[in-house]
Amino acid sequence: PDTDVRPALRVLLAAPRGFCAGVRRAIDAVRDALALHGAPVFVRRAIVHNLAVVRALEAEGARFVEEIDEVPEGGVVILSAHGVAPAVRTEARARGLIVYDAVCPLVAKIHREVERHHASGRRVLLIGHEGHPEIVGTLGHLPEGAAVLVRSAEDVASLALDDEDEIAYAIQSTFSVEEAAAVVTALEARFERLAGPQGSDICYATTNRQAAVREIAGLADAVIVAGEDFSSNARRLAEVASHAGCPSVQLVAEAAAIDWTALRAGSTIGLTAAASTPESSVAGILDALRSRYDVEIAQVATTTETTSFRRVAVPC
Ligand code: SF4
Repeated sequence: PDTDVRPALRVLLAAPRGFCAGVRRAIDAVRDALALHGAPVFVRRAIVHNLAVVRALEAEGARFVEEIDEVPEGGVVILSAHGVAPAVRTEARARGLIVYDAVCPLVAKIHREVERHHASGRRVLLIGHEGHPEIVGTLGHLPEGAAVLVRSAEDVASLALDDEDEIAYAIQSTFSVEEAAAVVTALEARFERLAGPQGSDICYATTNRQAAVREIAGLADAVIVAGEDFSSNARRLAEVASHAGCPSVQLVAEAAAIDWTALRAGSTIGLTAAASTPESSVAGILDALRSRYDVEIAQVATTTETTSFRRVAVPC
């Protein structure tokens, strides 16, 4: 009968998408600590910005806390992939906690950079989003007030600095590649004595996922980004898809949140996932699409990733 005939829908599946090496390592750190110490293992803040991941780890015996003082003395605590200020580690050790720091090595690299710039007397500008845990952690590596946060190219003109000052900048690992380039261009135009990272602080995973979503956004009538709206890298993917000219972009944590009115039969949609989004979320969205449409999937790969990090082996 006609009612069984589902309309066609073409899905362009971005690659790379989903978990990066830093997220895998952080999740492994929680599971390794659970295997070694038994439940409960405490995790300060969301280990990665994804509720499905947090709930899965809770079911395995992890307990999420906001601050170190919520962990009982002698307990085991994991610090998130976003990195923390050294003061947090100091507090944890002072409470006699067993601490595993799951900071992504690419965020730790940024910590070392800003410390080096500050030690050499440069004024540090941090390009990032105010209040994001990575920014809070990175700022915490410098004395209070030693770094200035810059959000956009427009901010550069109003910086209360002398154009002759020795300046260095660093960038949040999950910032928009395009917007960071605009900020750096503005900095270069204003400051002659400007130092920056070799290459970029924006990590390989952010760069690759933004390039992949830009590619599918240019080919699709609508784009779905699987991820949380409190995830920086997920929000950037949605922004990149919009900037690439895709008329309809939605950021959804799970299939139940899909806005079906935005998807038309016969159209082509792009699908990607943030670095903190498990592949199970993508599978759930594909199942939901299949329940309404006759789905044809095409992978659109812009690069292949091989990066992996050593596990968090010893308490720090
Ligand atoms: Fe590390 Fe980049 Fe993944 Fe963040 S998004 S955890 S910086 S690899």
